[in-house]
Amino acid sequence: MDPDVRQQWLEAGRIAAEGRELAHEVVEVGTDWVEVAEAIEDHVRSEGAEPAFPVNISVNEDAAHDTARPGDDRTFEEGDVVKVDVGAHLDGYIGDTATTVLLGGRGRKLKQAAEEALSAAIERVQAGVNVKEIGSTVQSTMQAHGAKPISNLTGHLIERWTQHAGISIPNIPHGDKTIEAGQVIAIEPFATDGVGKIHEGEDGGIFHYEQTTRQRQNDVRQAMEIIEDEFDELPFASRWLVDEGVNERRMPLVLRTLKRTGAIEAYGVLTEDGDGLVGQAEHTMIVEEDGVTVTTVAE
Ligand code: MN
Ligand code: MN
Repeated sequence: MDPDVRQQWLEAGRIAAEGRELAHEVVEVGTDWVEVAEAIEDHVRSEGAEPAFPVNISVNEDAAHDTARPGDDRTFEEGDVVKVDVGAHLDGYIGDTATTVLLGGRGRKLKQAAEEALSAAIERVQAGVNVKEIGSTVQSTMQAHGAKPISNLTGHLIERWTQHAGISIPNIPHGDKTIEAGQVIAIEPFATDGVGKIHEGEDGGIFHYEQTTRQRQNDVRQAMEIIEDEFDELPFASRWLVDEGVNERRMPLVLRTLKRTGAIEAYGVLTEDGDGLVGQAEHTMIVEEDGVTVTTVAE
């Protein structure tokens, strides 16, 4: 790998990791979701990077794809099992990392199972390893901790400007792709005490650009222009449109219209099928001949 390119991956990873660590300071009983999302995204920007995607805040039986929405009045509650997933990019080089914050006695086993499974998987990866072996390691480590992996959530290959670049890194023995030196991958075990699957539900405040469509209404056209200019590469939060000047009270209509005309798509919140609690851990890493270099390490 070109040394300058490596440096970009490492730097993006470090910034994402700092956002992740910040989650442990700012997620507290009574704190607003909006405050947490903005604190972490502001930190990413203050380090000279951009969020690669909105900070995912997913609580209890939700595994992923929720975030603070415009005007969101949700606060964290005693006992919440809070997954915070942070992405930072520098000129398209992405760091993707997640942690679980516990606000009470619940979820301890799941947090530990996800973290131990991630460590075991990292130990296993080097050039030439099959993704099935990684998934097998995740699953057996989870089971040793009395938890189940979520079988239909996976890690992934990362390429410049593309967070999910084709190859999936499973959390169960599945698939047959081989990982090569120089590839950048994210491994992200999700542990649950439910049935081990998720389904996609309602929109969670995270969207991605599909195509530019002609809009007749002023505020919808305004949103379309912002999305086209600034958010056409990577996922964005409806919250960010309000930051850019779109009227907060008009957001439901703006989003509905953009979706209906095929300009954007929503990510639905991913919820455990058996309403089990979910814990998550994630790191991004560069695959080497004899191991990996984890990029999402805070200084
Ligand atoms: Mn992630
Ligand atoms: Mn990921």
